[in-house]
Amino acid sequence: MTSPRTSVLLVAAAALALCACAPKDGRSIGAAASPAPKLITLDSHDDIPLDFATANVDPATANLQVNLDKMKAGGLNAGFFIVYVGQTARTDENYAKAQADAETKFAAIHRMAEDLYPNRIEIAYRADDVARIAGAGKLVAAIGIENGFVLGKSLEKLDKYYELGARYVTLVHNGNNDLAGTAQPRKDLGDPAEATLGVTALGADAIARMNRLGIMVDVSHGSKQTALDAIRLSVAPVIASHSAIASVSPHARNLDDETLRALRDNGGVVQVVAFDPYLRRQSDDELAALRALRERVGFATGGAEALPPDRRAEYDRGLLDIHAQWPLATVKTLADHIDYAVKLIGVDHVGISSDFGGGGGVIGWNDAAETGNVTAELRARGYSDEDIDKIWSGNLVRVWRAVEAEAARQAAAAR
Ligand SMILES: [Zn+2]
Repeated sequence: MTSPRTSVLLVAAAALALCACAPKDGRSIGAAASPAPKLITLDSHDDIPLDFATANVDPATANLQVNLDKMKAGGLNAGFFIVYVGQTARTDENYAKAQADAETKFAAIHRMAEDLYPNRIEIAYRADDVARIAGAGKLVAAIGIENGFVLGKSLEKLDKYYELGARYVTLVHNGNNDLAGTAQPRKDLGDPAEATLGVTALGADAIARMNRLGIMVDVSHGSKQTALDAIRLSVAPVIASHSAIASVSPHARNLDDETLRALRDNGGVVQVVAFDPYLRRQSDDELAALRALRERVGFATGGAEALPPDRRAEYDRGLLDIHAQWPLATVKTLADHIDYAVKLIGVDHVGISSDFGGGGGVIGWNDAAETGNVTAELRARGYSDEDIDKIWSGNLVRVWRAVEAEAARQAAAAR
């Protein structure tokens, strides 16, 4: 989850852009899912709305960037569905609200897989479940938590969320929390302007508990110090579930080369994210135009979604005008970040994420149905089938397995 949202704009922009990268060969994952896919594609970050899997939002057909029909059409086998909570002031009332929202989202994911569509999608609780479920011809739902704020000041909740299926926790989001410092401090929450805070003492305890339980530690949204601290503190490999590459496009949210090397040395993986503002540098002129547009339509904290329909339409039209002048990122831009990361830290440490539902999406990969375009772009750049398999799922599943092994080792040592 990252704001501002650009999805509607991307839909419009994609209609104007003719993507020349449609998969052509017969082994393309763009074909309907086969009973035993050779290549397993896994997107490590898909946000869901609070009313997911209710009468309002059918997980199979809803107008979302990820739904079951689109996953099948695009050959996206697996997704981490995200239990995201936004950062607010750290009060008991807000902790309780965050936990209530988290439980609503956990329940929605379980409802999708267990009540509504048990023949189409199944929750993966173990790394090996990914291949087993995909091999049975079903889609795979894994679960990640975004923002350790949901834990409040006590870590017992981690055990409960593990039971509910959470297999990674993003330590922090926009704004510092009790566990760690953010890459994007929030003045409105009283954060210092500089993103220098790393992992706190409570955060260190949370990481130890995640290692013991078998939950992957996620450093996306963390400050550089948070990422380096987490990598040092965790006795199992860590992930960046949705981050891009600072050397290709400078942004507070992107990982620099030192952090990427530390991630590699720790055995971890960076899941390069298809999020436009991280993938390409926005000029001061473009940012000024965006600010002016938001002021004009009365953009508030709720984002574009909170605008009344007429002003939302005006906003979307304004975005189209702006991006006619400053074009959005494409699948090729995403692949440029992947290429750089692969050259720097090796093909065993790079993966892919979309941030669909949270502002993610680029021209050519703006929903799960377009997943084949990413594979085709990697193939066009000379990646072997073996490399593509690692990038699409093998590396993340390897880290997940290593995290399970560490938890098993600690359990055995405690006996
Ligand atoms: Zn996010």
